[in-house]
Amino acid sequence: MRFSRLFGKTLKETPSEADTPSHRLLLRTGMIQQVAAGVYSYLPLGWQVLRKIEQIIREEMNKAGGQELMLPTLQPFELWEETGRYPSFGKTLFSVTDRREHTLVLGPTHEEIITDLVRRYVQSYRDLPLLLYQIQNKFRDEPRPRGGLLRVREFIMKDLYSFHSDDADLDRCYQEMIQAYKNVYSRCGLPAVVVEADSGAIGGKESHEFMLITETGDDEIVYCSNCDYAANIEKACSIKPKVEAKPPLPLEEIATPNIKTIEEVANFVGIAASQTLKAVFYSADNAIVFVVIRGDIDVNETKLKNLLKCSELHLATEAETKAAGLIAGSASPIDIKGIKIVADDSINLGSNFVAGANKPDTHIKNVNYPRDFEVDLVADIATARSGDECPKCNGKLQTSHGIEVGHVFKLGIFYSEKMGASFLDQNGVSRPIIMGTYGIGLGRLLAAAVEQNHDDKGIIWPATIAPYHIYLCPLRLENPEIAKTAEKLYQDLTKEELEVLFDDRNESPGVKFNDADLLGIPLRLTISPRTLESQSVEIKWRTEKQAELIPLAEITKAMKKFIQEAKQNR
Ligand SMILES: [Zn+2]
Repeated sequence: MRFSRLFGKTLKETPSEADTPSHRLLLRTGMIQQVAAGVYSYLPLGWQVLRKIEQIIREEMNKAGGQELMLPTLQPFELWEETGRYPSFGKTLFSVTDRREHTLVLGPTHEEIITDLVRRYVQSYRDLPLLLYQIQNKFRDEPRPRGGLLRVREFIMKDLYSFHSDDADLDRCYQEMIQAYKNVYSRCGLPAVVVEADSGAIGGKESHEFMLITETGDDEIVYCSNCDYAANIEKACSIKPKVEAKPPLPLEEIATPNIKTIEEVANFVGIAASQTLKAVFYSADNAIVFVVIRGDIDVNETKLKNLLKCSELHLATEAETKAAGLIAGSASPIDIKGIKIVADDSINLGSNFVAGANKPDTHIKNVNYPRDFEVDLVADIATARSGDECPKCNGKLQTSHGIEVGHVFKLGIFYSEKMGASFLDQNGVSRPIIMGTYGIGLGRLLAAAVEQNHDDKGIIWPATIAPYHIYLCPLRLENPEIAKTAEKLYQDLTKEELEVLFDDRNESPGVKFNDADLLGIPLRLTISPRTLESQSVEIKWRTEKQAELIPLAEITKAMKKFIQEAKQNR
């Protein structure tokens, strides 16, 4: 490719809307362009990278036994009614109405469509297992698109769906998929880690995410410094610090003028936050829920939402709290009537707590469960914290941020049961098909690759997914000898099927070198009057500071070898 003909322009300045390194660099290199919030065009350079990522994924899916197919974007709303899944997607679901007043969903994911397809073909256990996948555009109306390609509303996804006759076969496939995913990340230059994850709106029983650990990530990960335990904060468990339990003392009301927060209460009474009970109010599908948790621990909204099996959960507003007759800052689970009370199991770890009194400026000492109050549900609804004990060993937990670059789920019979996708087993008994689903967002993966592989000058593409292998950079093109040598080298390299971006512009060496670094092509070949004197070419890896000279006569052979090695090292 001749740079002078390349569609897209590199930018010197960072566009103001860019909020992460990948967003900034993908815009500055002219690889992507925003069309609307969370909607992007891929320009030729960005598309080349995307196509390479796509091919790597395709190869790994095929190797694992997947068969590629294509499914429609427009999905009949009736299918979403069959699974009852549209409430959990809520406003994230894009839908359109056609001229016959039919509602169609723009597919955010394709479990309904693929299950509908498979139920028409699979009859017997002999038809299973079946691994089907698609690589295509999907849509989610994200409330806050951000980070360039990190959180978008239209995106390209690879989703593989697996169908099995028993759990053991799903387990086998799940492990093979995890390995296939590891292969994909490794080939794309991403050191992704596997963490336990919440199943969310997709439904199912077990799920794992692949995370790139980085400060710019939206997700928070909890991991053990001693063993292999790692989980998304939404899912993570920990052993909560115990507080010494003492014999229960009688309830005692205390005046706490203008004391509202847990910190204020603890300071005022002269106790640790772990000796208080905190009341937090939520609205779950428009019903008020009273949550009780030990004062030093925070509520995990994902765990709470799963426990309540609600589709919409938010912290109750002031108006909702007032309407329910609750007194913020002094609420107590004691004598609450007509409101669902949910407690974290931390209320069992400790005794003689200080809690609210359900009247202003008053608290109660020596509150003990179950002596003094009743609850509807007790479960772990706590957010694991850095410093807590690991649930698997005695190690200390730590937290960090990450970008989710893949998600796999054991769905079980969540969809097949609702949609009547069944098969006859060896005894002729009809059973629901057991399913798994495995997704990778391609644009997200591309952005994550940039987050992982860049410096202050630009991108550093791994050779496997670089838009081009070689940046051919002749200086002083007005010199006919230089122009002739560069042109011949370009022809020779291209003939060997090496992918070359030929900087044939009449720009200064500074501009050319800056663009070479910004675009992040793995190898830069420079031809200048100085290198011509020794009939050689200067070669420099994007990852290295030093350059070296290689004789012109040997350069094509050397390039072939270098590129092959670089690809294999991934
Ligand atoms: Zn551990």
